[in-house]
Amino acid sequence: EEKLNYIMGKIRPFNDFPSKGVLFRDICPLMKDHKALCATIDLFEEYVKQTYPMVDFIVGLDARGFLFGPLLAQRLGVGFVLVRKKGKLPGPTESVSYTLEYGQAEVEVQADAVEKGQRVLLIDDLIATGGSLHAACELMKKCGAEVLGCLVLIELKGLKGVERQGSTPVFSLFQY
Ligand code: 5GP
Repeated sequence: EEKLNYIMGKIRPFNDFPSKGVLFRDICPLMKDHKALCATIDLFEEYVKQTYPMVDFIVGLDARGFLFGPLLAQRLGVGFVLVRKKGKLPGPTESVSYTLEYGQAEVEVQADAVEKGQRVLLIDDLIATGGSLHAACELMKKCGAEVLGCLVLIELKGLKGVERQGSTPVFSLFQY
């Protein structure tokens, strides 16, 4: 597909970032390119409209899920919910903690962000081990939402992050 090839050309690999041995997929060139950014949202929009005709919210993960989530939500005519790293949100919150390679992390959402039974789709730029998305899905379920699935630009297949999501479907534009 022409759009996929064009977008792929705007994802820049960096060796040894943020630490030695890591090949980082940099999406900044994609964000800078109007055609690539539109094409990315086009492909997500197409997929969601075909697969999930009933969605109440797009839920974005801190921080790069915030780049794509609101654009997609606007196209779909729904609102956007922020899942943030701990300590960033005012008012009552719900949270879920999870294990990182080194130490613990926690994701948070405002307690009134979703109502019981509301259907949500989560979005992030990339799935690696799947720990971040898994925690965010758990958080949404804790709030009573129905998690329809997850959307990412990039799946790093070797890390088996999709398997970690269990029965929750993960749609990716690219797999490396
Ligand atoms: P996971 O929790 O699946 O192991 O890691 C995914 C999270 O780490 C995502 O929120 C993503 O933004 C970030 N991440 C990890 N590796 C990369 C990378 O190579 N490129 C980008 N853009 N983000 C990454």
